[in-house]
Amino acid sequence: MNISVVGLGYVGAVCSACFANEGHNVIGVDIEKSKVDLINQGKSPIVEKDLDKLIEKNVKEGRLKATTNLKDAIKNTEITFIAVGTPSKDNGSIDLTYIKEAAKQIGEVLKEKNGFHTVVMRSTVLPGTGEEVVIPIIEEFSNKKLNIDFGYASNPEFLRESTAIYDFYHPPKTVIGASNNKTADILENLYSFIDTNEAPLFKVKIKEAEMVKYADNSWHATKVTFANEIGMICSKLEIDSHKVMDIFCADRKLNISTYYLRPGFAFGGSCLPKDVKAITHKVKELDENTPLLNSLMQSNEYQIKRVYKYFIKPLKKKKIGILGISFKADTDDLRESPVLELIEMLIGKGYFISIYDENVLKAKEEGAAKEYIETELHHINERLKKSINDVISHSDVILIGNNNEKFKGLEEKYKDKIFIDVAAIGDKMKGTNYIRIV
Ligand code: NAD
Repeated sequence: MNISVVGLGYVGAVCSACFANEGHNVIGVDIEKSKVDLINQGKSPIVEKDLDKLIEKNVKEGRLKATTNLKDAIKNTEITFIAVGTPSKDNGSIDLTYIKEAAKQIGEVLKEKNGFHTVVMRSTVLPGTGEEVVIPIIEEFSNKKLNIDFGYASNPEFLRESTAIYDFYHPPKTVIGASNNKTADILENLYSFIDTNEAPLFKVKIKEAEMVKYADNSWHATKVTFANEIGMICSKLEIDSHKVMDIFCADRKLNISTYYLRPGFAFGGSCLPKDVKAITHKVKELDENTPLLNSLMQSNEYQIKRVYKYFIKPLKKKKIGILGISFKADTDDLRESPVLELIEMLIGKGYFISIYDENVLKAKEEGAAKEYIETELHHINERLKKSINDVISHSDVILIGNNNEKFKGLEEKYKDKIFIDVAAIGDKMKGTNYIRIV
């Protein structure tokens, strides 16, 4: 293919050299003449392992060149990657100056260019930027229409500096958020040299692809900070943090796994809140600070508050049914149950609550929690109903509080009721009378 790459920094220079090495004709564009000159001399504009050699080879063999003339680059190619910087402004917000300018320039060239063109966002931009900022700018300045005259895709970059070339050929995944199938297929084809068994390829919506990059980087930052905070506690207690974290990482079931990574409702139960509180209290005693660990209970509380506000504000229905109050299905443990806390907040505001939870019902009759429910949880006990139907018939809106299989698909049966799912029991996000708010 004939490919242009706008921006010859870390991402653009690596992309340009690697695509050229795959046999494509690549024209790299930058506003900085020094970077352009270096590439045309067969040299790398950045320090990156093996990039010099790759640029030298591909420039020599005529597949790679660079220019400051964006117009020529775009006119002579059918696909353009945007790899300009997206730095932070002083207040932390994303600075889209370079993105907007590149989109404007691309639009101006497309105005005069015949044939379908594909524009690919390789820079990291916030969800919504493609559809709300970049595409409208290209359409305005080109006078052309998305999916008729040009296609657009978000295709985030996952390379790490210092291993960028290796990462280009061995990415953790390929994510293509395209405006139409044709554009997605063009990109899938372009990446056919990547083994999809090693790096799965995902074709998703533009916004989803944009968001994946922020989920990734937020997670990576969380991992580093978490390891450092555990390291600090260990060091203060004269424990070998590397030994602890090696054991931590050896646990592939609960720790280094997909477990606990499905968005849902606040955590609860007999262990997580108690133990997070204990260790953060210990940190205070040690005269140290673990802001990440400290934030966990605060964030958890916010999850509860957010759902509470949802009932108060948009819904304004006074009769609420709760399906599942223990923190997960298949347990009767109500210690630190976030649904219980939510119920108490709603009762306090005068809402009529009816509850169904088969395990709690059972426990009330025979289990260890019998006494606890009767003495400590009067307000729950008197609202417990014997069947799902009982709860639904007494309510206008129903909260699905845990992932009991019996709560799946109820919205199809009771079409006149509204179902709010905080347990992510269904696969869909929305239906006419169903909404998953996590
Ligand atoms: P960079 O600052 O190194 O390079 C950006 C280049 O774009 C510069 O050379 C600049 O002169 C050029 N440029 C700006 N406006 C231009 C225009 N209108 N026309 C032509 N060239 C223009 O940035 P980078 O580190 O390569 O990052 C680019 C994007 O990729 C960012 O959104 C970044 O967040 C993302 N990203 C970076 C990495 C990384 O490791 N560096 C990894 C993944 C994603």
